[in-house]
Amino acid sequence: MSVGLPFFRYHPDPLASGSIRASAEVCACCERGREWIYTATFYTAHEVNGRFCPWCIADGSAAERFEGEFTDSYGLEAVSEDVLHEVTRRTPGFHAWQDPHWLVHCQEAAAFVGEVGYTELAAHPEALDQLRTDMRLDGWNDEDRLEHFLIHLGGGATAMLFRCTVCGVHLAYADAS
Ligand SMILES: [Zn+2]
Ligand SMILES: [Zn+2]
Repeated sequence: MSVGLPFFRYHPDPLASGSIRASAEVCACCERGREWIYTATFYTAHEVNGRFCPWCIADGSAAERFEGEFTDSYGLEAVSEDVLHEVTRRTPGFHAWQDPHWLVHCQEAAAFVGEVGYTELAAHPEALDQLRTDMRLDGWNDEDRLEHFLIHLGGGATAMLFRCTVCGVHLAYADAS
């Protein structure tokens, strides 16, 4: 990335995912116009007047000042507390229909790649297989219905694609309105 944004280990390309966009907006934390603004979720009990720049996310100042989190800790029970805090307090979240959550692989938080449809998901067969297995476990017993759902990902429902930060395997969960 050439724009000089801070690097987020667990969300390496927040421009591609749409979580960070070019904007003249002033950051609600440092109160400076930094040309980039964060557009996705932030959970806090405090009132926040505006949105955050990527630097106030990366150094933890936005999460600390407003006592908030960018992502729910759901699903992150297996990782260390340091990693948990890096994902929830110092990593941009992402846009999703349901409350976004993070996937874990090799007992490490995975890196969020982006929201994808069937074609992009099928480019990573291991992610497609894992999603199929998870959905069967979730009670999708009708194989035709399950395949129909998967093939139509990208319409009303999408897949959230991640990549393991340890072994590099891709994994995904399905998100629908
Ligand atoms: Zn800022
Ligand atoms: Zn792994």
